[in-house]
Amino acid sequence: MTAAGGAVAAPREPSPEASGSARDGRDVPLAIDVRGLRKRYGALQVLDNLDLAVPRGELVALLGPNGAGKTTTVEILEGYRGWEAGDVRVLGMHPSRDRAALHARVGLMLQNGGITPQGRPGELVRLHARFYADPADPDELLDLLGLTHAANRRYKLLSGGEKQRLSLALALVGRPELLLLDEPTAGMDPAAKAAVRALLGDLRSLGRTILLTTHELADVERLADRVVVIDRGRVVAAGTPSELVAGSGPVLRFRLANGDGTVAAIDSSELGTLGQALGGTLEPDGGPGRHRLAGRAPDPRAIAFLADWCAQRGLLLAELQTSGGTLEERFLELIAVAQPEAEPEAGMGAASGAGRGTGSDAA
Ligand code: ADP
Repeated sequence: MTAAGGAVAAPREPSPEASGSARDGRDVPLAIDVRGLRKRYGALQVLDNLDLAVPRGELVALLGPNGAGKTTTVEILEGYRGWEAGDVRVLGMHPSRDRAALHARVGLMLQNGGITPQGRPGELVRLHARFYADPADPDELLDLLGLTHAANRRYKLLSGGEKQRLSLALALVGRPELLLLDEPTAGMDPAAKAAVRALLGDLRSLGRTILLTTHELADVERLADRVVVIDRGRVVAAGTPSELVAGSGPVLRFRLANGDGTVAAIDSSELGTLGQALGGTLEPDGGPGRHRLAGRAPDPRAIAFLADWCAQRGLLLAELQTSGGTLEERFLELIAVAQPEAEPEAGMGAASGAGRGTGSDAA
């Protein structure tokens, strides 16, 4: 992966938009401004009063478990799907009514249905480049995404990861002001994922606005300016990655072994007593002999107590780590406590701002 450079640089002129607070408190225009969004599929309330603000120049990650409503939200923002109530503005415009005007300014990842099976990556990227006034160089973009070797291969013969990289190339070729990326690394191998991670980092440092859905939470922790977690169509948490992680509290982790290095089998009641003495609850931590004490500050006395406890039993404290939780841990906590059922809907058209217009499903 080379630096993004000319292939993805140069956002165009901004347009009038509502403003919101950037992470540093500055008042900045909102590239995406969603308020009170409601959407049903038949009896299923898939988006339930959803708010989402993406300030210009930020990378915002929309996270949630499968079925949370992420793709539906992105499809509404792309102008492909209607909604029942709420305000939706993309670069100050209505996503479906103003789709033609938005087309040149918003980069979307076309999925399988949008790409002809007989098409070849090279010709498809060149063709799409012709729709834009100031496109990226198609060959440079193919190179950037590691697709040069497959430039003349038919779409239907590409691997899942190559199809996904082509879809990303088509999103980037117009050098759009705003990128809507729905699981851009799905199906990619680790090398391709690393390449996309580097590309997202480049785009972010170039000041591009990106809304991203992904399950790669380590990437989000590193790259996102802010995170919005949704579950069952509702926002359950929002903030910078460090704000979200701060909510999960510090964690003490350790691995116990016998003197000869074999896994120490500790009676669960003894572990229970140890947890109490350390001031929390010990949980298994994914691996033989591994435990974690969540939700309490790593206290030097707790660590000294644990070391002493091990010494008395002839056990080794084979690994010891104190840290804040990870975004993944916080995410799992948030999802576990989210309310199981959405409330019954009262008057779909009555929510504020319904007058801005209701789209109709266009795809
Ligand atoms: P996510 O992207 O977070 O996994 P989706 O927006 O794809 O969630 O889906 C949210 C819910 O809506 C899921 O329960 C899914 O099965 C349902 N759903 C998605 N698309 C449709 C559709 N076209 N018709 C009916 N139900 C749908």
